[in-house]
Amino acid sequence: MLVSCWYLYLGVQSLYREVLNMASVLQKLVTPLFSGPSEPPRNKVTVVGVGHVGMACAVSIVLRELADELALVDVMEDKLKDYSVSADSRIVVVTAGARLQEGESRLNLVQRNVNIFRHIIPQIVRYSPNCVLIVVSNPVDIMTYVTWKLSGLPKHRVIGSGTNLDSARFRYLMAERLGIHPSSFNGWILGEHGDSSVLVWSGTNVAGVRLQKLNPDIGKDTDRENWKETHKMVVDSAYEVIRLKGHTNWAIGLSVADLTESLMKNLNRVHPVSTMVKGMYGISNEVYLSLPCVLNSAGVSSVINTTLSDHEISQLKNSADALWDIQKDLKDV
Ligand code: NAD
Repeated sequence: MLVSCWYLYLGVQSLYREVLNMASVLQKLVTPLFSGPSEPPRNKVTVVGVGHVGMACAVSIVLRELADELALVDVMEDKLKDYSVSADSRIVVVTAGARLQEGESRLNLVQRNVNIFRHIIPQIVRYSPNCVLIVVSNPVDIMTYVTWKLSGLPKHRVIGSGTNLDSARFRYLMAERLGIHPSSFNGWILGEHGDSSVLVWSGTNVAGVRLQKLNPDIGKDTDRENWKETHKMVVDSAYEVIRLKGHTNWAIGLSVADLTESLMKNLNRVHPVSTMVKGMYGISNEVYLSLPCVLNSAGVSSVINTTLSDHEISQLKNSADALWDIQKDLKDV
């Protein structure tokens, strides 16, 4: 009896060894403690449009460790992904878009981009109904309005990258001329991203000292020091980069990572980004323009009521009128 028990024990031992040998590396390596369903991602980011700008945004976000999961979506066959990969995103960055073709009107380009966005935006919202959308595609203020309309999301969850980049370039150039660090110079570019942006000279200051008080002509044509040149350099910088390398991408990538950080970490940090400005500064149409916005995990939680001069307000209104002139003729928005 004792002998047969011993043989039984040896048999079980060899069976156990055999099973162990058949087990996969994973089964040998890991002793599971919990086998329930895995948690959805908490800080997922999706980038739509994996071209120069999309990849720069993705790399900047990854290197700053802002996302626990990153999804990339494009329409190109070799980059094609199903929109289901974007599910449960907290932030979706949209950089997809067509480029201006020779002789093409701005309205025509916008309409082509509207047609592209009609495919993208409903899919994004279907898979990530609680996301915050950051629109980068140009013309960014109009495309942000289009995204807001197509998404059906509340206005505080649809943001355009706007003049966050223009303002960073302005701070850098001004600080360089003043011989200080860019973070020590306070200055804002608001309104429309690009050529008709509004430089708020009345608010530029260093350590609370307003430059306009030191030089009442600052930013004007009559200014003997020609500080206005800095604004022109900001506007020209995108054209200069395109002339030198064919496209812009790294600066906007870093700028979008900045916005992502404020949203993801609930920072309540103030950025000049494109937001719905109807009802502000006497603007009566539904247009998106950059104003200083408080960004936190909800999106744009509030807008700072910046004190603007009459001239700056009229510049803002002119931009609003010019944008509405294009928007009112868009089809299928
Ligand atoms: P790009 O041509 O390199 O990339 C665009 C990408 O979008 C391509 O990969 C293309 O396949 C993709 N795409 C096109 N249709 C799509 C669709 N239906 N679904 C998904 N993806 C689609 O262009 P880029 O240089 O990366 O520029 C992208 C956009 O960003 C442009 O509109 C550009 O003007 C804009 N931009 C904005 C700023 C800013 O400050 N807001 C700065 C630079 C560029």
